[in-house]
Amino acid sequence: MVQGKYLLKVAGCQMSFHDAEVLAGLLTRAGYTETTDPAEADVIIFQTCCVRERAERKIYGKLDELRRLKRIKPDLIIGMAGCLAQKDKEKVFERCPHVDFVLGTQRLGDLPEILAALREGSSGIVAVDEEANLEGLPMRRADGVRAYVNVSYGCNNFCTYCIVPYVRGPERSRQPEAILAEVEEAVREGYPEVMLLGQNVNTYGRDLAEPVSFAWLLRAVDKVDGLVRVRYTTSHPRDFTEDIIRAVKDTRKVCEHFHLPLQAGSDRILARMNRGYTAEHYLRLIEKIRSLIPEASITTDLIVGFPGETEEDFQATLEMVEKVRFDAAYTFMFSPREGTAAAALPEQVPVATKKERLSRLNELQERISREQNEPLVGKTLEVLVEGPSKNNPCMLAGRTRTNKLVHFPGPENLRGKLALVHIERASSWTLQGVLADDDRDQG
Ligand code: SAM
Ligand code: SF4
Repeated sequence: MVQGKYLLKVAGCQMSFHDAEVLAGLLTRAGYTETTDPAEADVIIFQTCCVRERAERKIYGKLDELRRLKRIKPDLIIGMAGCLAQKDKEKVFERCPHVDFVLGTQRLGDLPEILAALREGSSGIVAVDEEANLEGLPMRRADGVRAYVNVSYGCNNFCTYCIVPYVRGPERSRQPEAILAEVEEAVREGYPEVMLLGQNVNTYGRDLAEPVSFAWLLRAVDKVDGLVRVRYTTSHPRDFTEDIIRAVKDTRKVCEHFHLPLQAGSDRILARMNRGYTAEHYLRLIEKIRSLIPEASITTDLIVGFPGETEEDFQATLEMVEKVRFDAAYTFMFSPREGTAAAALPEQVPVATKKERLSRLNELQERISREQNEPLVGKTLEVLVEGPSKNNPCMLAGRTRTNKLVHFPGPENLRGKLALVHIERASSWTLQGVLADDDRDQG
C-alpha cells in the first residue's frame, strides 16, 4: 500500500462532482489519504469541466499556479481528469508540461495503474479511450445528506451548443439492479437522499436489452427501505412524459421538483439548438405538471446570445420566463465550444449584447423567484437538514421537498433529519424560518 496524500480540485456539474467521488474512492483504496493543503499533497488531481470557456480558462489558470510547487517538489504527481481532459487530451502537456497524466471521463478505473506507473518513472500518460467499464469502482462519497447515483452515462442529443456528447460519449444506461444496489448501499452508509444522475434521464432504459422506463425506475427506487428522499437530474423537455409526473405524484420519496431546461423561448432558436421541441410543447408540459402536482417547483436552464439570436428571439425567452414563472433558473451566456455545430454558425452575438441580455434576464428571474417564494411565508415546510449554513454557521441549512434552501436556528444534531420549519421571511434565493413547535421540543 502507498502512503501518501491526495488533493482533488473539482469543477463542473454534479456528474463531475460524482466522478471525483470515484477518484477519491480509488485513491483511498490505493492507500492515499486526503489533504486540502497543496504543499502536503503527493498527488493533485483536477476533476475538470469544459461546458463553457470560462470554466476551462479558470482550470488552466489554477494548474499554472502549481508550476512552482512542482519545481520544488518534483515527485509531486499532477493529473487532469474529467471533461476538459477528455477534450484536450495530449494538448494538456503542451499547455502545462508540469502535468503528469490525463485521464478521460470513461477511464476513471485506470487511475491506480497510472499512479503506479508514474511512481516507477513513467511520464506523460494519457488514458482517454472510449467505453471502459465504469461498474464496480469504489467511491468515497462526500460528507452531506445526498448520495449521487448515475443512472446513465453519456448523451446522444447533440444540442448544437453542447460539448458533452463529444467528451462523455454516447448514452449508456446502467442496469436497474446495479442502480438499486447502489441506492441501498448509500442508505446503509447513512445517506437519507439520493440524486439520480443522467444527461437525459428521460431516455433512461431505452437502450437496455430488456428496456425499462425512467418512471418505472423512480417507482422502484422509491421502494428502497430507509431512504427518505429521491431527486433526479436532468430532464429533457422532448423526452419528458406524463408517466414521470405520475410517478412523482404517486410516490412518497420522489420530491416535487422538476428541473426542465428550456434553453430558449424562441422556436427558431430552439430549432437551431436542435432541442426537438417548441415553446408551446414546453408550456403544455408545465400545465400538466401544475395540474397534477400544484405545489411542484419548476426550475430551468437558459442560454442567452445563441448565434443568430435577435432582440425579438430574446424577448420570446423573457416571455416564456413570465409565462412559466420558474422558481429559479440557471442562466448562461452562449459560449462557443470548438467542434460543436453552433461554434461554427455565422451571426455570433457580440459579448456586450450577451452581457446586457443576461442581466435583463437575471433581473426578471430574480423578481419572479422572489414572488414565487413570498407566498411560502407563514407556511410550515418539511426540510431535510444539511448542517450548518455555509455563510452563517450559527444557522442550519436544509432544503424543502421543492429544493428551496431554508436557513433557521437549531441544534446541529438535526443534521440528516427531517425538520418542520415555520417560514418567516423569503427572498429570491432563500427562505428563513424557525423550527415549528413539534421539532423544537425534539431538538
Ligand atoms: N444534460 C443537461 C441538460 O441537457 O440540461 C446538462 C447539460 S450542461 C452540463 C448544463 C447546462 O449548461 C445546459 O443546460 C445549458 O444551459 C448550459 N450549456 C451547455 N453548453 C453551453 C454553451 N456552449 N454555452 C452556454 N451554456 C451552455
Ligand atoms: Fe448537452 Fe443537450 Fe446532451 Fe444536455 S441533452 S448534455 S445540453 S447535448
